[in-house]
Amino acid sequence: MDSLLDRLGNDEGAGGTAAPSLVPVLLPVALDQTYDYLPLAEQAGLTDAAAAHVQPGSFVLVPFGPQMRIGVVWDHSIGNDGAKPVNPKKLKALDSVLDVPPIPAISLKFAEWISRYTLTPLGMVVRMMMSAQSIFEPEKPRFGVRYVPDAADPPRLSPARQRVLDTAADGLIRTKAALAEAAGCTTGVVDGLVTSGNLVDVALPERKPARLDPAHKANSFSEAQESAVATLRSAVDARNFSVSLLDGVTGSGKTEVYFEAVARALAQGRQALIMLPEIALTSQFMGRFEARFGGAPVEWHSALSPADRGRIWKWVARGEARVVVGARSALFLPYPDLGLIIVDEEHDTGFKQDDRVHYQARDMAVVRANLGDFPVVLASATPSIESHVNARTGRYRHVILPGRFSGAELPDVQAVDLRAEPPDKGRWISPRLVEAVTETLAKGQQSLLYLNRRGYAPLTLCRSCGHRIECPQCSAWLVEHRFRNRLHCHHCGFSLPVPEKCPKCGSEGGMVACGPGVERVAEEVAERFPEARVALLSSDLIPSLVEMREIIKKIEAREADIIIGTQIVAKGHHFPGLALVGIVDGDLGLAQGADPRAGERTFQLLHQVTGRAGRAEIVGRGLVQTYNPEHPVMQAIVSGDRDAFIEREIQVRQRGLLPPYGRLAALIVSARHKETAERVAREIARAAPYSERIAVLGPTEAPLAVIRGRHRWRLLVKAPREMDMQTYLRAWLAAVPPLKGDVRLTVDVDPYGFL
Ligand code: ADP
Ligand code: ZN
Ligand code: ZN
Repeated sequence: MDSLLDRLGNDEGAGGTAAPSLVPVLLPVALDQTYDYLPLAEQAGLTDAAAAHVQPGSFVLVPFGPQMRIGVVWDHSIGNDGAKPVNPKKLKALDSVLDVPPIPAISLKFAEWISRYTLTPLGMVVRMMMSAQSIFEPEKPRFGVRYVPDAADPPRLSPARQRVLDTAADGLIRTKAALAEAAGCTTGVVDGLVTSGNLVDVALPERKPARLDPAHKANSFSEAQESAVATLRSAVDARNFSVSLLDGVTGSGKTEVYFEAVARALAQGRQALIMLPEIALTSQFMGRFEARFGGAPVEWHSALSPADRGRIWKWVARGEARVVVGARSALFLPYPDLGLIIVDEEHDTGFKQDDRVHYQARDMAVVRANLGDFPVVLASATPSIESHVNARTGRYRHVILPGRFSGAELPDVQAVDLRAEPPDKGRWISPRLVEAVTETLAKGQQSLLYLNRRGYAPLTLCRSCGHRIECPQCSAWLVEHRFRNRLHCHHCGFSLPVPEKCPKCGSEGGMVACGPGVERVAEEVAERFPEARVALLSSDLIPSLVEMREIIKKIEAREADIIIGTQIVAKGHHFPGLALVGIVDGDLGLAQGADPRAGERTFQLLHQVTGRAGRAEIVGRGLVQTYNPEHPVMQAIVSGDRDAFIEREIQVRQRGLLPPYGRLAALIVSARHKETAERVAREIARAAPYSERIAVLGPTEAPLAVIRGRHRWRLLVKAPREMDMQTYLRAWLAAVPPLKGDVRLTVDVDPYGFL
């Protein structure tokens, strides 16, 4: 990240200024240039007021080819240097200005920065910032219904109608859906009572975000917390750019502490953004926020409806949303006066987006704070190596919370050497872990069994001929999902019913499931502990965020004895009754050979998961099943010696010139035909400009050689930290002959995926 910062400042956009009478407009398409239009005022019949309305960031409708398209007025023209000036007679005029708040000037700058850093066409970045087509649709007025006291009874007074009338008799205005739900009937019943005149439609006021009060609840802090609070408050008070790394074990009170920084920004009248890895947008967090600020924050995540997205986008743009809690894309909302960003669980790789625009949201949050000249706080119990290095070199303030607020001890973690203590054949839970679960159950406490693998079994093979069932479109095995009785591809979504016969040799009943997924662990648990109440948490089994929150609440309320889950249980939850965490496969994350962060990531995950145990009055315990108990990651987890692990990782990175000591970029070439992908990848490699200091590795076939029927080849670019990777890549890409046919080239700067 530091390396990003080195380059801030010399970021004036390319291109000159448009002739004053022309308006540069950027279209949300894969292009890096603006188009010039005549202003509105040039048209007959328009007032100056309407023309004055057009400002940089305004959304306008413009004729583009045969179509009308929505574009954004830019503050200078881009990418037109050297182009022949357009014949003035051919210039077209803006059609109209849309009644949508403009994108703030700082967001335009931010978009240019991201485009340059990630080598993504600016139009695509802006498209991402527009978030939802629904921002251009007027908000539908909402109606509720109210009881009409002196109306005659409806013609047919069914029990359902009676219940609706009984509920509505209190005179409150409710939406039809809310009334129907309260009365336990369909909205059709409510509609009927509107027709009969017993209920009347009433327009509801426009929805607004909750009012937040920075002084709603005063917290008292421990001494260590108090000093962290003071540091963060002074960072906000300074009203300039700074990065603080809030580093404290789970349960140390990081959330409570950073809430005080948020309160300060609120008191200054500025907007604040709290970024969480998607899944951690839990009801628990929202509840705590409400308790502290007297109102709910505005939430931004992938499960929002288009209408919600549009509404929230406008709330943010108009400054009505004071605090947004959101996943990575919340960073691109149009904040006119953002004054603070918190990135919680900053180490989480969920902040890296690998789709369309490839960006690391934590890093881009730091860039955004720098552009806006305000502080950013990165919080984690297991900060990334990048952030540790920045804290060591003094670029980041290191704010440490040493122990748990409750005084509870960190869990005692032990390794279970699966070579010495293997589970029974066809089972996945070792005798020691079984015993620990049994003891925990006897004490009426909760256990969590963690396995980061969805489904029942990762591989299905034929006993007779050894055939392994693969995805027809990907080089990956199909994963059995027994609840659905189907085999699924986790890369492309392909699925088929579990076959009775071997698709290759035709032998019947000989297909065997190999290896465990969470569903299989759940099956073993049901057999071993038939009396235990089990909660299975796997994203594919939970239809919605609402239901997910329901299950989490049940676990918190100790309505489950054994919790079995994937990653989604690892993050941000607080289960007070949880005493034991068993990691079914501790080695799972280490296998990704090419990934320089595999060790770090496994450490973080295992630390986070085992850290779920014993957060309240219970002493926690962790058991990690592994075939590699001597691996440094296992050693670090068991000994709890985080610092030694970090020290070792830092040295590895330093020696290998890996991030943050070096820069990486991946180029992925894909095509329908393997030969094409390979040939083009080799051509691209040959076009690489020579540099003494930059190494281009590959091309090699990607570990995941085929996805969705596309063959993939990878190149990895390695550069020392002080090199300008983007300039090098741009020069290189300019030398690559245009891609033909179905060939695609993806550039991933600072890659986190190596498959
Ligand atoms: P972290 O974010 O570091 O995991 P939290 O902020 O979630 O820690 O705190 C862990 C638990 O301790 C929470 O239940 C929280 O309410 C409680 N807690 C932490 N600090 C305080 C405090 N100063 N006063 C009251 N409760 C606190
Ligand atoms: Zn077979
Ligand atoms: Zn597939």
